[in-house]
Amino acid sequence: MHRIESGRLHSTYTLGDLRIISLRDGHVDMPLRRLRQPGDKPIGDALKGQISLVDGQLRLSVNAFAIDDGSAVTLIDTGASNAWHPTMGRLPEALDEAGIEVERISTVMFTHTHLDHIHGLVLPDGHAAFPGMTRLLVPNEELGLFRAEARLERFHSMARSFEAGEFVGTNIEAIGAHGHEVGHSCFRVSSGGERILVWGDTVHVPSLQFKRPEVAWEFDADQEQARESRLRLLALAADDDHFVAGAHLDSPGVGRVTRSNGSFQFQPL
Ligand SMILES: [Zn+2]
Repeated sequence: MHRIESGRLHSTYTLGDLRIISLRDGHVDMPLRRLRQPGDKPIGDALKGQISLVDGQLRLSVNAFAIDDGSAVTLIDTGASNAWHPTMGRLPEALDEAGIEVERISTVMFTHTHLDHIHGLVLPDGHAAFPGMTRLLVPNEELGLFRAEARLERFHSMARSFEAGEFVGTNIEAIGAHGHEVGHSCFRVSSGGERILVWGDTVHVPSLQFKRPEVAWEFDADQEQARESRLRLLALAADDDHFVAGAHLDSPGVGRVTRSNGSFQFQPL
């Protein structure tokens, strides 16, 4: 896998015969108290000193990822559109910068159903963002959560569920990574002997959680389960030669995971 071009809001990589495109929707700032130690305890001062902050806040990139097989494009997550903070919602601009015509996006699939992943289905002006979309895939455990979003009502009946272990595309396998949300999933994309895990919200704060994967996130539906999923995916990536792509890794958020001093390290590509 290597990067073949990039701009302010996108980076394009090869993966076997596929193109993987990182698309920057924007960022969101969060207070330090979102980081939680086991037992839902706040992190101590020693750990705080290791984290990169912007104006005293955690700054999370918000990324979506496209897979282009030459004929059609699959989009994993869609950004926030205008449904949350105005620091997000640049996905349409990122797609344009990457040269991806929105009509070519035939499948959209979600790692989970939080605001910053699903609302990009609808543009701020109310139009559908992806007029050529014929498949919309939501983790089975979260179909009800998706159908509770009134802003996305026009898509409620179109949404189909998938299960962990299912092939949701020729080269794309869903892998359960529950914890951050009840159906949180990642997608293993394979081509030409190369593999990447598009892992959603497995890591929120890369400056800390590779080194200290036991640190969880206040918004995890189940922090303990999220910890177990994070450890399992980090080990899979490091030991079995998978690249990773993260929704909240610093944009473009694509790289390798290696083991380091009993813990893990991220090496951006
Ligand atoms: Zn998220």
